[in-house]
Amino acid sequence: MKLLVATNNPGKIREMHDLLQDLRVEVCGLDAFDRIVEPAETGLTFEENAVLKAQSYARQTGCWALSDDSGLEVEALGGAPGVFSARYAGDAANDAAKIEKLLAELAATGDAERRARFVCAMAFAAPEGAIRFRAEGVCRGRIAPFPRGANGFGYDPVFVPDGYERTFGELPSSIKREISHRSRAIAKIIPFLRDFTILELDQ
Ligand code: IMP
Repeated sequence: MKLLVATNNPGKIREMHDLLQDLRVEVCGLDAFDRIVEPAETGLTFEENAVLKAQSYARQTGCWALSDDSGLEVEALGGAPGVFSARYAGDAANDAAKIEKLLAELAATGDAERRARFVCAMAFAAPEGAIRFRAEGVCRGRIAPFPRGANGFGYDPVFVPDGYERTFGELPSSIKREISHRSRAIAKIIPFLRDFTILELDQ
């Protein structure tokens, strides 16, 4: 069975590929298709955005599609950047600019705890767009005073997961794979996908 992991983010495709490697599915990315229109992420929650992406990409490609929407919620910033994590410092801003803005806004609050969490919502859609499964994973931690490490992507260099002193940028990818918001959402969806692919393939 061909499963479209519907994202253009190479960091996410790499992580999802690793997480799904035990399943009898052929994972492909959006780069395998021409003329795919990216749906506007108009949802107010991660779940709404995951659903609208899975539906749109499944319908456009005719594949079973797994989409996620994820981001960082910082307690002292009232949950920002949240669903705007990717566009926090403008559409064209790179990860360093987003991190710089985040650290400046957090410093301005005077908050010493620096509590934050990564959230990942996932949705799995049938080729005609019906949502068959959804799941959410959370990884709690705090924001480091300055960026450290070059592993991962996005806000990883400033996120210290609970139970660790190093950031996701410094920790080996094997640790992130065990405890990340994306892994936790995937862990909920994998039993469903396993039963589902067995049924599909045995028909
Ligand atoms: P999405 O592609 O709309 O889900 O945007 C998610 C954005 O949130 C990314 O561009 C990153 O800035 C941030 N983000 C989500 N997951 C992670 C992660 O695992 N590490 C670091 N940043 C992340």
